[in-house]
Amino acid sequence: MESGQVEITQERLKQIVATLERRVSFDQIASYKNIEITYEELGQQPKGFCEHFDGQWYICLKQGLTEEEREITLGHELAHAWLHIKNDSLAESFAAEMLFEKRLTTFFESVKASIENDAESRNDRILESFASLYLLQTHLIDDRKKGMVNAVIIGIGAVALIRLLIAGAQVFMGWNPTSKGLSWMPSLSSAGYTPASQVAIS
Ligand SMILES: [Zn+2]
Repeated sequence: MESGQVEITQERLKQIVATLERRVSFDQIASYKNIEITYEELGQQPKGFCEHFDGQWYICLKQGLTEEEREITLGHELAHAWLHIKNDSLAESFAAEMLFEKRLTTFFESVKASIENDAESRNDRILESFASLYLLQTHLIDDRKKGMVNAVIIGIGAVALIRLLIAGAQVFMGWNPTSKGLSWMPSLSSAGYTPASQVAIS
């Protein structure tokens, strides 16, 4: 960052994100801005860093990151190298704001795939995509996006409660619904829980 340059505000950052999100990837921004991305064996920390050398910006990313880790680290370093943001928290906000829509879509797609295929094994994908969405939450600065993450959490809570009630009904009344729409949440039996009715039969 050149001396005398003023750090951008959260409001300005939101405006920048609004013009870019869903239109351009971090890799494309780096390419347009002639910022070179390299990969190296780094220790535990950090996952990446950037440096200005001989008139050229370089972003170095740790080898072996997952795609989710790689893209959020790249976004963070781009905030430093391209937007000249010094503050790490604001740099993380740029990455989170830019990735929000993509991760929300991935989450909904994983839920949809699970319902359509009625596959319990897909729970892992839902939990993974939810975790990568949830990780963004603390860094989001747009209230609308924060609210959407909260709505997803409430939705998951509601479905978990319904499943719990159904499991309870199965235990006490021997009721056995075959609702495909609810089958994607982890079931109590997969967590080692055996309904009383099954115990009595065996
Ligand atoms: Zn940083």
